[in-house]
Amino acid sequence: MSVSVASYKNFIGGEWVDSASGQTMEVLNPATGEVIAEVPSCTAEDVNRAVAAAKKALPDWLEKTPKDRMELLLQLANVIEEHADELWQLESLNVGKPHWVARDEPAMMVDNLRFFAGAARNLEGKSAGEYVQGYTSMIRREPLGIVAGITPWNYPLLMVIWKMGPALAAGNVQILKPAEQTPLTTLRFIELAQEVIPKGVLQVVTGDGVPVGDTLVRHRDISLVSVTGDVDTGKLIAKNAADTVKRVHLELGGKAPMVVLDDADPEVVAEAIKIAGYFNSGQDCTAASRILISDRIYDDVVNLAVKAVESLSVGDPAAGDDTEMGPVISEEQQQRVLGFLDRAVEARGTIVTGGGTVGDRGYFVKPTIVADVAQDSDIVQNEVFGPVVTMQRFATDDEAIAMANDVRYGLASSVFSKDVGRALKVAAKLDFGCVWVNEHLFPLTSEMPHGGFKESGYGKDLSLYSMEEYTRLKHVVVKLA
Ligand code: NAD
Repeated sequence: MSVSVASYKNFIGGEWVDSASGQTMEVLNPATGEVIAEVPSCTAEDVNRAVAAAKKALPDWLEKTPKDRMELLLQLANVIEEHADELWQLESLNVGKPHWVARDEPAMMVDNLRFFAGAARNLEGKSAGEYVQGYTSMIRREPLGIVAGITPWNYPLLMVIWKMGPALAAGNVQILKPAEQTPLTTLRFIELAQEVIPKGVLQVVTGDGVPVGDTLVRHRDISLVSVTGDVDTGKLIAKNAADTVKRVHLELGGKAPMVVLDDADPEVVAEAIKIAGYFNSGQDCTAASRILISDRIYDDVVNLAVKAVESLSVGDPAAGDDTEMGPVISEEQQQRVLGFLDRAVEARGTIVTGGGTVGDRGYFVKPTIVADVAQDSDIVQNEVFGPVVTMQRFATDDEAIAMANDVRYGLASSVFSKDVGRALKVAAKLDFGCVWVNEHLFPLTSEMPHGGFKESGYGKDLSLYSMEEYTRLKHVVVKLA
């Protein structure tokens, strides 16, 4: 059956425009490999147009009050709420997300935008005062100006919202660059919201990381680049942004450990692994990808986890609500994941379930568990970003903490134990931006910060802390006499 191919344009200065070169690029459904859309394949010229439109819009937008900015964010939230079904279905088609995963995302985005609508009216600086006799000092918390948001393919619209919420709440104008594989919900959302967006306050430019993202990173008129992506991408962006001494906010990869202490319930842990290891096909920066298990219950956890993971129903999300796990995003990602498995076996890991692909079309990888892997092996030290979980054993809590921290990533982690005091002691020593106790992956909430340590990046998404990324402080001094 052939599918109809939708055609999209860039959104610049409130208009829908083709790329300057007229070139387009294809967008695929990863569950079938079929082309479902084409979008502009942009160059530096398109980015320069978007920056010019943003620059033109900025003075008027800077005149707006926090209340005005709140109202825009509330209207954007309403657009998502009204079109939730269309947006999650499009996300499911473009990313290969099962319905149960995609369906929950709009409600989270609506809540995020409403949270930042409130945040717009709660920006704080220190109180004004006389710190030197005869002078009053005051702090102004100001927007940065033009900011860029560069997003990944695993949560395309959600990551846009996490960047748009604080950027607009703080009074910035923004240029968005969605991932080349998954631009569709970003474009469709903006299309649905175009009536409420003041001209030039939000722009979308589509295309490859280089040249589109790279031109944003190097552009003199852009004050901040917020990027969610791979660690290597983040490092390169930070280097390139240094030429214009640009602020960079980096939400990068993860390699989350789930630390299972000897008193944890193996049944509870196995169910948690089934969700947290394979949610969104394991393409989640906080996925439980390394399961560290006490010697005492290692065999029980491995056996129960194998059973739980083998019960996952894998297939095309379009087949209906019963699909629990879909494909990975692309053939390239599929091959990358399989490469990790080959190297893990060479390094004497044992694939206890899974390995290999599923079906004869689309980019599926079987939900996989690799047991008895060495701490220094590639599959433990590097982000796989697929439906693959490793299992390692430890003897003492201290050994578990050392193994958990012995990676270059520091985004998320969890500890499972019936003794909450003991779990909290471990939590304090885990070198990660988030630690869940007796849970992994959920909940994320608008009020709490999300962000990593070490090579997982710096700066926070969500919460009032994220407003720090999108604002600057100015000291104004008034001579009293
Ligand atoms: P990626 O690094 O390949 O791409 C991310 C974005 O950066 C894309 O829009 C891409 O076009 C752009 N880009 C690539 N090269 C660029 C360059 N030189 N200059 C400017 N922009 C450039 O990442 P991905 O494969 O799309 O996403 C998966 C990665 O994202 C994983 O590593 C995952 O862990 C990470 N991630 C992190 C978080 C978090 O909150 N920390 C959340 C989701 C995903």
